[in-house]
Amino acid sequence: MKNIRNFCIIAHIDHGKSTLADRLLEYTKTITEREQQAQVLDNMELEREKGITIKSHAIQMDYTAQNGERYVLNLIDTPGHVDFSYEVSRAIASCEGALLIVDATQGIQAQTISNLYLALGNDLEIIPVLNKIDMDAAMVDEVKDQIVDLIGCDRDEIIAASGKTGQGVEDILEAIVARCPAPKGDEDAPLQALIFDSVFNSFRGVIAYFRVMNGTIRKGERVKFFNSGKEYDADEVGVLKLKMVQRNEVRAGDVGYIISGIKSSADVQVGDTITSVANPCTTGIEGFEEVKPMVFAGVYPVENDEYEELRASLEKLRLNDASLTFEPESSLALGFGFRCGFLGLLHMEIIQERLYREFDMDVITTVPNVSYNVYTSKGDMISIHNPSGLPEPTLVDRIEEPYIHAQIITKTDYLGNVIKLCMEKRGTLKSQNFLTTDRVEVNFEMPLAEIVFDFYDKLKSISRGYASFDYHQIGYKISALAKLDILLNSEPVDALSALIYKDHAYDFGRKMCEKLKELIPRQQFDIAIQAAIGAKIIARETVKAVRKDVTAKCYGGDITRKRKLLEKQKKGKKRMRQVGNVEVPQSAFLAVLKMD
Ligand code: GDP
Ligand code: MG
Repeated sequence: MKNIRNFCIIAHIDHGKSTLADRLLEYTKTITEREQQAQVLDNMELEREKGITIKSHAIQMDYTAQNGERYVLNLIDTPGHVDFSYEVSRAIASCEGALLIVDATQGIQAQTISNLYLALGNDLEIIPVLNKIDMDAAMVDEVKDQIVDLIGCDRDEIIAASGKTGQGVEDILEAIVARCPAPKGDEDAPLQALIFDSVFNSFRGVIAYFRVMNGTIRKGERVKFFNSGKEYDADEVGVLKLKMVQRNEVRAGDVGYIISGIKSSADVQVGDTITSVANPCTTGIEGFEEVKPMVFAGVYPVENDEYEELRASLEKLRLNDASLTFEPESSLALGFGFRCGFLGLLHMEIIQERLYREFDMDVITTVPNVSYNVYTSKGDMISIHNPSGLPEPTLVDRIEEPYIHAQIITKTDYLGNVIKLCMEKRGTLKSQNFLTTDRVEVNFEMPLAEIVFDFYDKLKSISRGYASFDYHQIGYKISALAKLDILLNSEPVDALSALIYKDHAYDFGRKMCEKLKELIPRQQFDIAIQAAIGAKIIARETVKAVRKDVTAKCYGGDITRKRKLLEKQKKGKKRMRQVGNVEVPQSAFLAVLKMD
């Protein structure tokens, strides 16, 4: 155990975590040149395209240090997005050390700090790395000052590196060996292994990744998952090189995988403890939480008769993504579909994209919303995941909505703008803290619903890209909310209803009508768009009728061109839904996201 080192890499997005990880793998010859492919750890197709790490993975390296000793280094990669912060926290809990990477051209950003706090909360040894020093724009001295201020280290503890040129890579490996503590744990104690991730394999079922805290996990033994209570046979255990390598046992301190015939990701919860049935531990590893979806949206098939197919696709997706939830729902406007729960907006985008790519499902997604706690006048609490499910106002005593703690780091020049934006989004300023003379950290409490829409884009634009942002949920608070309905030619469209903060409802209704007017194409009759709270109409717009002959432009001449045009129009219609007598495009159901 004394020659094992478990570490993770934490960084703000784009600061070079994946690139540097690749350099470490190359240097330790964990990957051969043939296998070399930029950013090996990001192996889902989507991850590659988006250039982000969606799920965490682990990889083991062998390293012979300058002192002549051989070490096993387990690198645990963490996802770089707030949607997956629980997984980040479990990955961090599996390590003794963390490389804190800061881009020398950007300096410390919000996720640098939020991840650092997570790491410090788990008593990890922090090894600061100043990355991208090959770039002309690198502000080496200035960013070193920032790091010293932030973590209170000595200047010479900061390793200057470049994931591009490979500079500093050996220093990093030596620092991991020298500064990161060896794992502690008792190989002879009852087994306690922390699950920090799992992946689904269509041939082998679920593969769970773990860090053994105490005891030894052996091939063939009967194991139990502490929190779920489920028992399985450990059909295969091993360590994670670039590929899985089977072992007869994995001992305390080490990182490995287990395959045990589990068919659904839902049966393996990140944060759960694996123990042995013969000699079980008495307590699970601290910090286990059930991950709850934060954002909900209706997902409907474009073609009504694809409902069953959509259900089958969602069920398959859930096998390898347990954080996706769904339940059947019906909408007057959209017919039969599902209300899906997601970890956040990125997660929602990923699911939608995977439905399309892996299952060839074209879906209409409604406006995302958060979940509300509704207390009825009878004293019951119901959890509402869809604004149209809100009981009659007379039956509602009060409504609570989820709040977050938001942490924003900005250049001082934009502080005014940032505070103004957060106040508009119903934020309360909690603290502000100057990191240097021209960079400041501000902390707000605000409703999650306010950041679900376009907060991040707005923050970026008012700060010219300089502000960075991170958040975590802090619980529910009472809010004055009203249900806003949209009517098209007097028919309420349930899929467009939203719960809005009362003081913002008029403004919201007006903007919503304006946006819908832009998005709904002109048809052969006038379309009245109205916003209403209860029976009261608060805004109205009209889409004027048009009598459009789509083939008129073809001058009756070229028949193939005419056909092409008609086909193109049919395709364009695919993501349209008939609501009453009005054709409504998919974009209209997401109008809220595009309002300014
Ligand atoms: P991550 O989001 O932290 O994983 O960041 P990536 O590793 O994906 O890097 C983000 C971008 O910065 C990519 O375009 C990399 O090619 C680039 N990059 C990463 N490290 C360096 C470096 O040391 N020097 C330079 N010039 N570019 C780098
Ligand atoms: Mg990455």
